[in-house]
Amino acid sequence: MQFSCKVKLPHDQRASLHELFGDVIDHVEIIEHSWFAWLHVVAAATTRRRRIYLRGSAEEFFADPKLVLHEYFHVLGQWEPGALTVWRYLVESFRRGYWDNHFEIEAREFADDHFLRFRALLARHRSSDKPDIQRV
Ligand SMILES: [Zn+2]
Repeated sequence: MQFSCKVKLPHDQRASLHELFGDVIDHVEIIEHSWFAWLHVVAAATTRRRRIYLRGSAEEFFADPKLVLHEYFHVLGQWEPGALTVWRYLVESFRRGYWDNHFEIEAREFADDHFLRFRALLARHRSSDKPDIQRV
């Protein structure tokens, strides 16, 4: 059994996300091995306002740049401006399911559009000294 734990963004992730989203990334908390995420069985992660709950470990999450972009977009592009709410998400999922849910379409589109740039930023900001995931 692994316990839920808050993690700090590794340097390369933080610097790269900062270039894409700005200072607001510092308000986002990431919780790995989250029981809350396990309740939402369809996805690897679940978001709420300023929170990303991971089913698995932070290492798995950060190894998947598209997933990182996807989840940060839910938080900063949808929750933060108030477009996404639990109720709206449920209604949308009920109408269209997971894949065709417009919140999911938008997040996938954002991740696809920014993936190459994000990977380039990560490579640029990658430090030689690792590992740098810190649990807090
Ligand atoms: Zn999603």
